[in-house]
Amino acid sequence: MAEPEVVDVVVVGLGVGGEEVAERLAEAGLVVVGIERDLVGGECPYWGCVPSKMMIRAANALAEAHRVNELAGSAQVRPDWAPVAKRIREEATDTWDDKVAVDRFTGKGGRFVRGSGRLDGPNRVRVGDQVFEARFGVVLGTGTRPSIPPIDGLADTPYWTNHQAIEVEELPDTLLVLGGGAIGLELAQVFARFGVRVTVVEAADRVLAVEEPEASALAAEALRADGVEIRTGVRVGRVSHDGTGFTVHADGAAFTGEKLLVVTGRRAHLEELGLDTVGVDAGQRYLAVNDRMHVTDGIWAVGDLTGEGAFTHIAMYQAGIVVADVLDHMRRAKGGPDASGTASVVGGAAGVVSAVGGAMSAGGSTVAPGSVPVADYRALPRVTFTDPEVGAVGLTEQQARDRGINVQVGHTDLTSSTRGWIHKTGNAGFIKLIADADQGVLVGATSAGPAGGEVLSALLVAVHAAVPISQLRHMIYTYPTFHRAISDALRSLK
Ligand SMILES: Cc1cc2nc3c(=O)[nH]c(=O)nc-3n(C[C@H](O)[C@H](O)[C@H](O)COP(=O)(O)OP(=O)(O)OC[C@H]3O[C@@H](n4cnc5c(N)ncnc54)[C@H](O)[C@@H]3O)c2cc1C
Repeated sequence: MAEPEVVDVVVVGLGVGGEEVAERLAEAGLVVVGIERDLVGGECPYWGCVPSKMMIRAANALAEAHRVNELAGSAQVRPDWAPVAKRIREEATDTWDDKVAVDRFTGKGGRFVRGSGRLDGPNRVRVGDQVFEARFGVVLGTGTRPSIPPIDGLADTPYWTNHQAIEVEELPDTLLVLGGGAIGLELAQVFARFGVRVTVVEAADRVLAVEEPEASALAAEALRADGVEIRTGVRVGRVSHDGTGFTVHADGAAFTGEKLLVVTGRRAHLEELGLDTVGVDAGQRYLAVNDRMHVTDGIWAVGDLTGEGAFTHIAMYQAGIVVADVLDHMRRAKGGPDASGTASVVGGAAGVVSAVGGAMSAGGSTVAPGSVPVADYRALPRVTFTDPEVGAVGLTEQQARDRGINVQVGHTDLTSSTRGWIHKTGNAGFIKLIADADQGVLVGATSAGPAGGEVLSALLVAVHAAVPISQLRHMIYTYPTFHRAISDALRSLK
């Protein structure tokens, strides 16, 4: 058996989270091995956030052009998918080639290994015949893959996941979308705006089921206006493919489509990671971590596989914590000051632990010795990039009530705001606020509408920093912006 090669840190999986950790630790001067079996950068740049938002940008341009007829004369629009596919191929993904990302990592001093890594006992990672022993730690950032429901017949069909949907060069005439979550709705609306007849089939009784019911209703209405057929509460019994198209059989009904896109969630594949060799249960749905992303001695995890929110911004946020904590461990291993017992959360938000000593630079950010942030997900933001956008932060009304919070709700419709009225066509949306009446702070909010994801930023600060509602009421909101509707929603809190 090959002698293990001793390095400082091994990062397994270089998606958004793992890549960030590996690059920043390499930049800080550590000997870092980064292992990736597919493309460095992971799902987000190649099959997720970036190309899907390029598609959405193009589809929204079409929708805006149609709105000319109501506001500014007349416009004839002829959708063409070719420039969208070209942009994704050439600008977003370099035809699904990660050379730029690999060079960026190695340029920072990292050592790149292409392959599948798995734990091989404490501090050890095996990739093929190579074994690495990590002096200071192993970071797992292996993400998730599409979760395919065990529907009779489905596995034998040539269904699409997000990969085929993003890589598509020629659009089908008809598309069935299994799953009415954020990804399903975003892609359904894009394809519909390019002329595809789309049917969304969702098992829950509403689309966007994790968000406020008002958000579900708004998104469903918007997609229906784009010609998308939405069927909720559907129990799919069987899927078949006859060589030219798909049939989804459900509750006596049958839905047909030339292609079938399955977007019913994502799954972490913990069973592949050798967790048993370090005494960690591989049967969990996600890899449990503490508030410093620690799995067990010498092992950290980052990103989607932690189950704290399948978003790039969560992976990046967690990566910052891992970098600081690994550097702190290294410092202590070298006999530096120990800050581990004094964690404190500052202002109820992601806090810092203070200690003394010289600063250490990691990827441009200075990490003071012993300054280890801890994870806090109270103000977790997310945006569904449909048109209108649905932005949300923190708790929904139901989640707040389930936690026994003394809830007050504020609501305002964007169409009745000055900006909404001026905007006219395409102005659908609302602001909904969830307040903890006893604490006098917001614990959740939804901002749906044109630029709903951008308007969210003010609400994100309010929830994250627990800004007193009395202060929010006495702020000056710019006239006539969409965000000014927040003041109307605050006034309606009851
Ligand atoms: C269509 C779509 C749209 C999205 N849009 C958004 C959005 O708008 N905003 C947002 O915040 N998020 C969005 N997301 C989610 C976002 O892409 C993920 O949250 C993010 O990619 C998670 O990063 P990660 O590093 O945890 O995992 P991943 O990006 O999944 O990367 C994990 C990497 O690990 C590698 N790997 C796995 N196992 C091994 C192994 N054993 N050895 C070596 N390598 C391994 C994989 O090949 C992969 O490259 C979207 C996702 C999809 C599918």
